[in-house]
Amino acid sequence: MKINFSHMKTFQYQVEQFADLRILRYQVPGFSELSLQKKLYIYYLSEACLCGRDIIWDQNGERNLWLRNSLELLLQATQKNNSGPKELEEFYKRVLFSNGLHHHYSTDKLKPGFDQEMLKKWVSLLSSHEVKILGYETEEQLMDELNSLLFDESYLAKRVCQEEGKDLVIESANNFYKGLNQKEAETFYANQLNKDDDKPISYGLNSRLIKDAQGVREEKWCVGGKYSIAIEKIVYWLKRAASVAENKQQKKVIDLLCAFYQTGNLAGFDDYSIEWLKEQTGEVDFINGFIEVYGDPLGFKATWESLVNIIDPSETKKAKLISDHAQWFEDHSPVMPAHRKEKVNGVSMKVINAIMLGGDCYPASPLGINLPNSEWIRELHGSKSVSLQNISKAYEMASLASGVIEEFAADDEELNLHKQYGALADNLHTHLHECVGHGSGKLEKGVRSDALKAYASVIEEARADLFGLYFIADEKMIDLSLADNFNLAKTQYNSYIRNGLMVQLARIQKGANIEQTHMRNRQIISGWALEMGAANNVIEKLTIDEKTYFKVNDYNALRDIFGHQLKEVQRIKSQGDYEAAKLLVEKYGVKVDAAIYDEVLERYSRLNVAPYSGFINPKLSLIYNDNNDVVDVSIDYSEGFMEQMQRYNQMYGFENREAVQ
Ligand code: ZN
Repeated sequence: MKINFSHMKTFQYQVEQFADLRILRYQVPGFSELSLQKKLYIYYLSEACLCGRDIIWDQNGERNLWLRNSLELLLQATQKNNSGPKELEEFYKRVLFSNGLHHHYSTDKLKPGFDQEMLKKWVSLLSSHEVKILGYETEEQLMDELNSLLFDESYLAKRVCQEEGKDLVIESANNFYKGLNQKEAETFYANQLNKDDDKPISYGLNSRLIKDAQGVREEKWCVGGKYSIAIEKIVYWLKRAASVAENKQQKKVIDLLCAFYQTGNLAGFDDYSIEWLKEQTGEVDFINGFIEVYGDPLGFKATWESLVNIIDPSETKKAKLISDHAQWFEDHSPVMPAHRKEKVNGVSMKVINAIMLGGDCYPASPLGINLPNSEWIRELHGSKSVSLQNISKAYEMASLASGVIEEFAADDEELNLHKQYGALADNLHTHLHECVGHGSGKLEKGVRSDALKAYASVIEEARADLFGLYFIADEKMIDLSLADNFNLAKTQYNSYIRNGLMVQLARIQKGANIEQTHMRNRQIISGWALEMGAANNVIEKLTIDEKTYFKVNDYNALRDIFGHQLKEVQRIKSQGDYEAAKLLVEKYGVKVDAAIYDEVLERYSRLNVAPYSGFINPKLSLIYNDNNDVVDVSIDYSEGFMEQMQRYNQMYGFENREAVQ
């Protein structure tokens, strides 16, 4: 990747840093040159993207919207000359970043940097009207609620509890279940399963499950149901978007999505997903809906997310080469022949640039997306894969200067490889992971797609990563002109091991286990590889000047190891081998090596780089002429983090207003 320094001066990627968070900006190349129709299409989709913001807040925890309002009022009450107490401001910013009270990544409850005495002083500055707005008669009552939310460590301790042996529903602070336990929730959905159905509906995806006097029932998220106010707005903007769509298929897709939002009927969501898959010719695309189930330890409930994006033509060309050869990858995969697909269907790969992030994609954004999640649709119709080029670029630009690679690379060769090939290697691995990785392989007859239960996500991510790691070192990369030599593969192997065994530990709280899916799968692959290659010193643990490094000594042997791992992980998925999945995840993916952890944290902290990043969206505005006709859509990158969050509170806080009343 060539770095255009003159360009860097005009665009500031990193905006600010607080706690463990970095706030970055991303750029949308080529936006200004688009036709007015395309710009309007993007603008309307973007409004639909932002209108669902409150949904994710409420899904993350029942008190989150209330807390956001309380912190906003407290900040206003304490502000002098436009700035409030810095402890309050920082905590509020962390809550805004996490879309609620729990850390966006670890899902642990955030700890305020102030104490109850300070809070009491701030609360005393609220007017009695403001206390009433927050639903309380007296300051004392309000303090009681804030104290338990912010300072009682055992209350709502974790958003997503995945601890073996605990009741995952009761111990999770998310807002997907109410009044019932794990067993009751699992029984409710087990009773809905029809084992012979070849088009199984993803039951539970768009509802909260509650138990009350009427028994166990679902509260649907749809027009007329829960989140109706926000969903009506989403539908309104989607309909406007449909009127300026690029093609008929896009209009059909949007109509189906609106119909789904109107009824909450999940079969309708599958219809929409299939048509969405077929839409391949437009430049602009979007995601808008209840999509990912990482937030529910049982894997039924999907968080609301949205993304509006536009194709990146030159990168897409490279990725298309990979998807065009999907069958070749499948046929040459090191998995058992019985686990290969005879025919790989509809694997598409697009490289896109994000224009608007919303819901669970904001402000912390994914780097790649592969959808839909429904297994039968994937088998029958394939899947759409995208990687977010401008988001990756913003990360890369912001971290090149941070010194992390210098600190953790084992030697100059590793460092130089990274500088030269790091961005390219990572792009290529993402392409392989998202496209051919997730789309590959098949289940043995009679194996249910949910057989691995809570371990399914991590096994799936490990499988896709391993597919990418195995093939990035294949001659095919050179044959397809995706690489000139094996330096890309070497670079990716180095960074995967460096990250999986060391660097990513900087994101873990002291004493905690690894819980996040992608971190788990990276530690599983690299820890397991270290062990598999120990006899031949494939990966060497070095100590230089009392610092630990992991150096890859034999890249060919490491590739063989990745191949063996892929074969086993595919076997686990294909056979639904729950016990083997559990063993693998619990052995390599959960515990942290305490000594290495302390060292990583110490070395990382000296670099002063926050381990997590999130993004400020560009601001789109309609431009009118004297006759009040829209003549253009402008894009502006100057908004700050707090400024944008507070504007969103104002403009898109629909459910919030209801929650406060
Ligand atoms: Zn993935």
